Amino acid sequence: MDCKEFNGLIQDFLNDRLSEMKLSEFLSHIESCDSCRDELRIQYLIYEGLERLESGDTFDVDKDLADLMKLQKKRLGVRHGIKMTAIASEIITTAAFIIVLFVVLFYQ
Ligand SMILES: [Zn+2]
Repeated sequence: MDCKEFNGLIQDFLNDRLSEMKLSEFLSHIESCDSCRDELRIQYLIYEGLERLESGDTFDVDKDLADLMKLQKKRLGVRHGIKMTAIASEIITTAAFIIVLFVVLFYQ
């Protein structure tokens, strides 16, 4: 992912609309690119700050953004975990089916 693509995805990131693949590219780009980190910070400040101003909540952009990144990273990990579990249970189901098939064939 380059900086131009990254900038185009910031709004989607803030609205939680990125696909798993884009989200992981997005998060790895931000770790290696200072200017994009600044850009995200500014856009987050506008996006979240306006809402907080209306509701009167206190707002610590650096802490909140760090929390958001942590949450998204964790979510990415959880999504991968769910996918692996689904694959594993599919394999077990298929294996069980084959075993039952063998048992039925051999004991007839
Ligand atoms: Zn960049």
